[in-house]
Amino acid sequence: MSVGRRILRGVRSLLDLALPAVCGGCGTPLPPPSGGALCRECRDVLRDVPARVSPRVDPGVPVWALGRYRGVHRGVVVAAKEHGRRDLAAPLGAALARALLDLYGWGELDPSAPVCLVPAPTRAAAARRRGGDPVTAAAVAAVGGDRVCRALRTSFAARDSVGLSPAARRANLERWVRVDRRALRSRAPGSVVLVDDVLTTGATAAVSVRRLAAAGVGVAAILVVAAV
Ligand SMILES: [Zn+2]
Repeated sequence: MSVGRRILRGVRSLLDLALPAVCGGCGTPLPPPSGGALCRECRDVLRDVPARVSPRVDPGVPVWALGRYRGVHRGVVVAAKEHGRRDLAAPLGAALARALLDLYGWGELDPSAPVCLVPAPTRAAAARRRGGDPVTAAAVAAVGGDRVCRALRTSFAARDSVGLSPAARRANLERWVRVDRRALRSRAPGSVVLVDDVLTTGATAAVSVRRLAAAGVGVAAILVVAAV
């Protein structure tokens, strides 16, 4: 990191301290000392039971969402992803952990296999710019670093999919998602759950499931914060 950048980051941390804390879900100012990233209402909404969703592109495994991509769920995803609210990893992780317990309780996950969370692939450069991938941070907060397997990577070969035809988008995605076999080997798989922040068409999830299957890893379920 350059000196200029380091200074900027320092100034930003000071500003973060000086500015009143606001809820990462609804933007309501939190009374000091805030002691959290979300107001009580947003935390409760986020901790609701997950709902089964049916994306346009069927990934072939059950897909669960903490909520729809609006209101609190949208607010939290945008704040974590676009505004670098790293403090949201803890409440997001708690919500994911709670949802996983529900899935185990409902018999959706094999109770004899410990969970292994695989964060959805993300553009490395974009994640770096935002100060780390919020999905991975939430997954680690949910189950601990040793139950998170960063097996899905992205290739720089693919271009941004905005404005592409559906067929070109699919081909682009196929090139984009790849499996890091070394990361896979270093983990006992267990019940593999793919996690992501937003599910739109399900196309990325479907490619990810296929890629992992080709590498010998069966995905038991997909869990996302918000489904469009
Ligand atoms: Zn709130």
